[in-house]
Amino acid sequence: MALLEIRDVTRHFGDYTAVDHVSISIEAGEFFTLLGPSGCGKTTLLRMIAGFDLPDSGQILLDGEDMVGTPPEKRPVHTVFQTYALFPHMTVADNIAFPLRMAGKPPQEIRARVTEALDDVRLPSFANRFPHELSGGQKQRVALARGLVNRPRLLLLDEPLGALDAKLREEMQIELINLQKEIGITFVFVTHAQDEALALSHRIAVMNRGNVEQIDEPSKIYGFPRNRFVADFIGKISMMDAQVMEAAPSHLKLDIGELGEVITAGKEGVKPGDKGVMAIRPEQVRISHPSNGAQLKNHFLGTVHDFLYIGDVTTYIVELSNGTHIEALLPNSAPGRATFFEVGDLVGVSWRHDAGIFLHD
Ligand code: ATP
Repeated sequence: MALLEIRDVTRHFGDYTAVDHVSISIEAGEFFTLLGPSGCGKTTLLRMIAGFDLPDSGQILLDGEDMVGTPPEKRPVHTVFQTYALFPHMTVADNIAFPLRMAGKPPQEIRARVTEALDDVRLPSFANRFPHELSGGQKQRVALARGLVNRPRLLLLDEPLGALDAKLREEMQIELINLQKEIGITFVFVTHAQDEALALSHRIAVMNRGNVEQIDEPSKIYGFPRNRFVADFIGKISMMDAQVMEAAPSHLKLDIGELGEVITAGKEGVKPGDKGVMAIRPEQVRISHPSNGAQLKNHFLGTVHDFLYIGDVTTYIVELSNGTHIEALLPNSAPGRATFFEVGDLVGVSWRHDAGIFLHD
């Protein structure tokens, strides 16, 4: 049985449907992420799991028990917010102890559990500090410790790293992964940052306009996006209009108009005549001098329209003869050199026949 089962949950605000018949099952011990753009309904869904808001229809079951009639404080669930929500006039230890005091635990147990929680988040010597004496990352760790001290079945995290700068965020991401692994509590994490979702999660639900578009492991979401929304939202991808000519289990042959044909990976549920797009990730595209690879399939000529040097790699935007833009990524293995090609250069782009993805309209 799943630890958390969201069954056909819908929530309206007036005429607006913020969450639209969503069903998700989360297993015990999972690091599960709700990912989507601003306004897609992820926070509304999280609030309903926590009990701060109620579904108009559907069920939320924890360990098989319907939670809808249970108030937030009675659910074995704790929420960690982006804003930390620490009490400024209380020490770190008192902040962490707060949920235990509310639950009427004896002082000795409270002391032991606070010490344990501070160890869990690697702040053993911070018990007597006040929140204003902490950095952003330390505040977030105290908020996490407070979330863990009551040993909830489920820890909900609402954009917990959103307020941190990039370097600290990465550090906290690694800590979150390790912490979750060590303590084994199920995490439901909300973010609009796709890189964060890919880096942290066992599975991701990609949401859009109140709907779940795909639930999968990060590598599946990135490598086999189910539709155009997921492909476009997660990572970079170039697309061109395409119509299926041939559909075999091992490959598809697509008509891409005046550019000719392209071969992509096979895909279930695709038949000749289907319309959609051919999509390709930048790191799958090889960019080379125009004569190299002319004999290959999936080889097209174009001109460098733009490039973007970002240190470890340079991204080239290549314009094909029909105006389509294809992004190609080249690692910068020669130090001090930003580009191998200049704007206006004639180049060839190509990719393996199984690297392209066909996505229906
Ligand atoms: P963000 O990343 O910006 O927080 P989100 O994906 O978490 O976005 P929600 O906060 O769940 O999105 O909101 C989904 C939609 O429901 C939005 O259009 C929002 O304006 C609307 N909404 C949320 N709460 C309410 C409310 N209490 N009353 C009216 N509309 C609401």
